Amino acid sequence: MVTDSFTIPTRWWHRLDDGRVQCDVCPRACKLRDGQRGVCFVRARDGDGVVLTTWGRSSGFCVDPIEKKPLNHFLPGSPVLSFGTAGCNLACRFCQNWDISKSKEIDTLADEATPDAIAEAAADLGCASVAFTYNDPTIFLEYAGDVADACHERGLRTVAVTAGYICAGPRAELFSRIDAANVDLKGFTEEFYRHTCGAELGAVLETLEWLHTETSVWLELTTLLIPGMNDSDAELDALTGWVVEHLGPDVPLHFTGFHPDYRLLDRPATPPATLARARRIARANGARHVYTGNVFDPEGQSTYCPGCGATVIERVGYEIHGYALDQDGACLACGTTIPGVFDGGPGGWGSRRVPVRLQPRPQSRDRR
Ligand code: SF4
Repeated sequence: MVTDSFTIPTRWWHRLDDGRVQCDVCPRACKLRDGQRGVCFVRARDGDGVVLTTWGRSSGFCVDPIEKKPLNHFLPGSPVLSFGTAGCNLACRFCQNWDISKSKEIDTLADEATPDAIAEAAADLGCASVAFTYNDPTIFLEYAGDVADACHERGLRTVAVTAGYICAGPRAELFSRIDAANVDLKGFTEEFYRHTCGAELGAVLETLEWLHTETSVWLELTTLLIPGMNDSDAELDALTGWVVEHLGPDVPLHFTGFHPDYRLLDRPATPPATLARARRIARANGARHVYTGNVFDPEGQSTYCPGCGATVIERVGYEIHGYALDQDGACLACGTTIPGVFDGGPGGWGSRRVPVRLQPRPQSRDRR
């Protein structure tokens, strides 16, 4: 029985012969008895179906630089309104957002936010896009989709930051309303995915190939490198070789530094040299746009023209210090088009991170 305005019915589930109901949103395939919640916490059995319990509720909003998602080839320098809800369908022992993703407290969801309120706030704040981030939009795809529709009505783009662990039907529904995605490719062995993330590598690779071949979503990848766990030369060679072979050389790769957190406190932070090594291996395999993150490394964070080698976007951290592309993203020196979404010149948001509280608006909470 649906009991509050934050709980909505969903369509991605089916009944099992033993009386349980299976959620079909992600490969975890939670089989639920009445009243039970799925592993993600936010989807639950309710009567004969599965409901989403967090429609219209957020764990908070911030305006960030788009480079923080990270997306380096999508409206560079522009501000993005970022938000998330609670819960996650993975179980990463190294989660860097665990206070949100592992939350089982509805109190974490402090902000009420209708899709219209979010889109209007983003437009009022001068954002070019809204990002579903902090936790994975897979598990709140109905809410994310409604927010995306409200954004598109106002000419705003949408961004998904996701692990890509999602089944085919809901995947098509979610990404039909997404303009850009940064997908975490957390490692490149099934063992790492199974034991450290509670997921399957094969399902994520399938999503990546599908995004690349079947959609127009702008795609970038991020791998958080954890010392001794997913950072060997062999694994980085296999990962980056797969990306170039299956997704092509133009998909930007981000190697970011880990810091001890959540259930992985016995590992050291990632040395900058590891990120530089990963970048070298990826480039040797033919990847054209490879970045380092969570460290000071202007060389590893700038964008270079694959045609003439010129620095076309010079970054220091999240700030753009030099820009040598035309309105359509072509190199000013040689005319080579840089892959990505470039809409005029660069934005000037800089590296600021500005928390935002949405003002309650006197409007209906009816689902759009
Ligand atoms: S989305 Fe949530 S409830 Fe559905 S299968 Fe995945 S973890 Fe289980």
